[in-house]
Amino acid sequence: MIQFSIITIFPNMFDTIFQYGIIKKAIQKKIININIFNLRKYSTNKKGTVDDKVYGGGSGMIIMFLPLFKAVQAAKKSLNKKSKVIYLSPQGKLLNYQQIKRFIKKKHLIFICGRYKGIDERFIKSQVDEEWSIGDYILTGGELPAMIFIDTITRSIPGVLNNKQSLHEDSFINGLLDYPNYTRPKKINNFSVPSILLSGNHKKIKQWRLKHAIKNTQLKKPKMLINYKKLNKKNFFQK
Ligand code: SAM
Repeated sequence: MIQFSIITIFPNMFDTIFQYGIIKKAIQKKIININIFNLRKYSTNKKGTVDDKVYGGGSGMIIMFLPLFKAVQAAKKSLNKKSKVIYLSPQGKLLNYQQIKRFIKKKHLIFICGRYKGIDERFIKSQVDEEWSIGDYILTGGELPAMIFIDTITRSIPGVLNNKQSLHEDSFINGLLDYPNYTRPKKINNFSVPSILLSGNHKKIKQWRLKHAIKNTQLKKPKMLINYKKLNKKNFFQK
């Protein structure tokens, strides 16, 4: 089981997000577990303050070292498992599929959700194992990135998806984007489902799908195709 601990000043943001679909089932099957830690409970004053002005002047508040430290200690103590502390930050490495495969092997991931202008640098230097970003843009807090991490890690755990939701055909998994997919009806105005997909010839359907996955990748993410060609050097041109 992977344990996820989330440290946040907005615990209620997570109230419903994990109560749906695949994530809900993964929790029910005890494949994952999620614990939310309200950072304000680890404040050093009665008001529950966790932030203060930035040294050197300027606008914005910074989350203080001590509440974060105490919350992380509590998260670690609650499970007594090997933990990895992840700070969700626009300055971190960009999340991608290869990295997610690494995370599914971990026992306990502790996510720090920053807010305001960020968190005290000394906490990052001394307590954070890895800094991760979900994109080159700035959000108001780390809660959405934490949700995204948990969602994508969970669906990548073997056994979480059933055959109908099969993982190995998803974009990125085999180095290509997914092929185009269709469902009923067969015809919408002038747009018909490609006839090969209705033929029942599984070999031909497989070939069609590979061809169109390559075409899709070439069109939408050509850089990905360079790596794919390298990995599949021998038989790429036969496909
Ligand atoms: N001043 C910080 C900087 O420029 O690096 C940005 C602070 S941001 C307004 C507040 C918090 O949102 C961050 O501490 C981080 O936890 C989260 N955050 C914002 N953008 C993010 C991103 N692209 N990926 C992951 N976390 C992000």
